[in-house]
Amino acid sequence: MGGRVLAKIIDGKAVASRIRLELAEKISALKKMSGVTPGLAVILVGDDPASTVYVSNKVRACGSVGIKSVTQRFGVEIETDDLIEKIKALNDDPDIHGILVQLPLPTHVNVRKVLEAIAIEKDVDGFHLYNVGGLVIGDTIFSPCTPYGVVKLLESENINIEGQNVVIVGASNIVGKPMALMLMARDATVAICHAKTRDLAQFTILADILVVAAGKPNLILPQMVKTGAVVIDVGINRMPDGRLSGDVDFEGIAQKASFITPVPGGVGPMTVTMLLENTFQSASYSIKNPCTYQKLHLP
Ligand code: NAP
Repeated sequence: MGGRVLAKIIDGKAVASRIRLELAEKISALKKMSGVTPGLAVILVGDDPASTVYVSNKVRACGSVGIKSVTQRFGVEIETDDLIEKIKALNDDPDIHGILVQLPLPTHVNVRKVLEAIAIEKDVDGFHLYNVGGLVIGDTIFSPCTPYGVVKLLESENINIEGQNVVIVGASNIVGKPMALMLMARDATVAICHAKTRDLAQFTILADILVVAAGKPNLILPQMVKTGAVVIDVGINRMPDGRLSGDVDFEGIAQKASFITPVPGGVGPMTVTMLLENTFQSASYSIKNPCTYQKLHLP
């Protein structure tokens, strides 16, 4: 506490708003050129307060860049097959370029079946197996939004990825694993840690770039971080006093790292921004490739 801050704080809010401004211009040009307004459909099941907030943030963000969004709300009792029928209708709707199913879904719903029903050219969250497989071989259509946002943050600071030792703490399907694949595709040497990793510090101390996505406040302490490391904190934790905290000891590590992201205001604003980017990319693709766009569905 009270020491000298060495790290540059990466301002995710500023980077996100720069990307959104550029996107708004590109979307306006696309509309003028083609008459097409990018469209995003958001599916919300039940009334979980956090999910409701996330969805309204996404809808607001769409409006701010000129993407038309439609929210379809369903009661918690909806069955897997009914949800799949709704998704199929959106797959065939030419005004919709992105389909997002807000997770988590109620436990009786088969999440994998629902995600696999999304046409791959509209899978702007990047959770369809086709997109996940594409990530593995370095040739995906849509990258999942949170790790994609992290890559954009690193690029915004011209941080070299190639040949760097990257350690990722957290191995979930939506953050840790795709993050590892995206950084491997950029020629980093990547280690992934998780809850059963023995002696986490022996890995984290080696990281030139440390990405933490575990959902555990103060999991990463200054002695676990190499001097000069880049520290990206994906975690979002609601503390007992109501404030938000990441997974790393921000104050302590900011005295050691070369770059660090704050929570809030780091990775968070980038996630929704990359969703907007993916939706725009999908709409552009549909205009440039009208014959193949609707044919990317898997059987
Ligand atoms: P998740 O599905 O709960 O996965 C957490 C991962 O962290 C798991 O792989 C788990 O290991 C690992 N982990 C848990 N405790 C650990 C420990 N003590 N040491 C090492 N690894 C540990 O969570 P998620 O969806 O990936 O999200 C992770 C965090 O990022 C959450 O705080 C979430 O709110 C936040 N998040 C932020 C954004 C954003 O936009 N900023 C987006 C998505 C998520 P096991 O696999 O062994 O269980």
